[in-house]
Amino acid sequence: MINKVLIANRGEIAVRILRACRDLGIKTVAVHSTADADAMHVRLADESVCVGPPQPRESYLNIPAIISAACVSGADAIHPGFGFLSENSVFAHMVKEHGLVFIGPKADHIAMMGDKIMAKKTFARLGLPMVFGSDGALNNIDKATKMADEIGYPVLIKAACGGGGRGMKIAQSRQNFAEAYETARHEAGIAFGNDQVYLEKYLSNPRHIEFQIISDEFGNAIHLGERDCSMQRRNQKIWEETLSLVITPEFREKFGQKIARAMGELGYVGVGTLEFLYENGQLYFIEMNTRIQVEHPITEMITGIDIVREQILVAGGNRLSLSQDDVMFRGHAIECRINAENSDTFLPSAGTVTNYHCPGGPGIRVDSALYDGSKVPPYYDSLIAKLIVQANDREQCLARLRRALGEYVIEGVDTLIPLHQNLADDPDVISGKFDIHFLERKITGKT
Ligand code: ADP
Repeated sequence: MINKVLIANRGEIAVRILRACRDLGIKTVAVHSTADADAMHVRLADESVCVGPPQPRESYLNIPAIISAACVSGADAIHPGFGFLSENSVFAHMVKEHGLVFIGPKADHIAMMGDKIMAKKTFARLGLPMVFGSDGALNNIDKATKMADEIGYPVLIKAACGGGGRGMKIAQSRQNFAEAYETARHEAGIAFGNDQVYLEKYLSNPRHIEFQIISDEFGNAIHLGERDCSMQRRNQKIWEETLSLVITPEFREKFGQKIARAMGELGYVGVGTLEFLYENGQLYFIEMNTRIQVEHPITEMITGIDIVREQILVAGGNRLSLSQDDVMFRGHAIECRINAENSDTFLPSAGTVTNYHCPGGPGIRVDSALYDGSKVPPYYDSLIAKLIVQANDREQCLARLRRALGEYVIEGVDTLIPLHQNLADDPDVISGKFDIHFLERKITGKT
């Protein structure tokens, strides 16, 4: 039984977790850096502990400070949110060693999925289809070139420990393969402390489709359908939808069950997302995220399931409160990531919010930690709010989205609201014709 949760995160996700805890009657402890002393997650929590100066390394990534804060405040569990320490298997292990519950999967599963080569091997063994590529790490240029020739160009060189859209290089032809390979290894070594890379066929027009799963320690595993996250800039998601326009109900049911079975066989406990690329009617596995995801609210909107609540409950040793037959999908939902960035240049914009008005009305949900006078510090991820809209069908959803974007006022920092307004009016977006390269093409004006 969990009574008090320390939330090792900040911003909207810290507030989201806090809300699930409060609904469950669980006490909350916020941690914060000195830059976030007045932040919304600190204001709303039952208690708060300052864990260090603004730089993430010294505060939100400071493992001794966070575990000490949990022990001192009498928390019995830690929720890592996403980013920061959420996929750090050493942290998950240490939390357990201190007699606390880690609200996430077992440390071994985090480590397994954090190494994308291992993750691919695991799911290939469990029968999921893979993007054509190398079987494992390629540590020498001759072997790598031979493999690239076999795969056929363009080839993607990916870091085994990459994440957040970073650690990927495209080789368009054999001529630039050696340079791309060496650069990818060098950059991976610096960014992730591990220079192992593997190769994948670079798919020219895929969609990004991912399945949400939840499972408990009693072997119950279910899926909550898929999300289409093809709208990306620099391999980072900007806008997500569910259900996808390209997945039929029959395919969803069959494939979803296959994934749920695979999770059961793995003995995975908690929430997770399996990411795939979709091309020519096929899904190809690329990676698994072992944490709650930014875009989880769209699934919550169409299923009515509080995923964070279930996540906390299963981490506390409870059975899943629902079975696959309880999962129904109602209408369509879209999430727009409102980043504090200039809509034209994408330059991050820090500052103070001088005027804030949040949209409302039927089908609208806003997950944010903003308020009039709140600070957007320059040290952290630029995601400051998520606008989530649900309606009976996609057309109505887009109409509601346009209305909500028109109502949303955030002054004092630049935001991506104008970009989202532009997307919501785009004929290709309206007809649902977009792949992972659509946004980049639209921004650069290339067709
Ligand atoms: P990360 O962990 O950094 O998010 P992923 O493996 O999930 O890395 O890939 C992120 C994005 O990169 C995908 O959503 C897709 O847009 C693009 N991508 C990944 N693999 C391929 C591929 N084989 N071909 C084309 N695009 C890819």
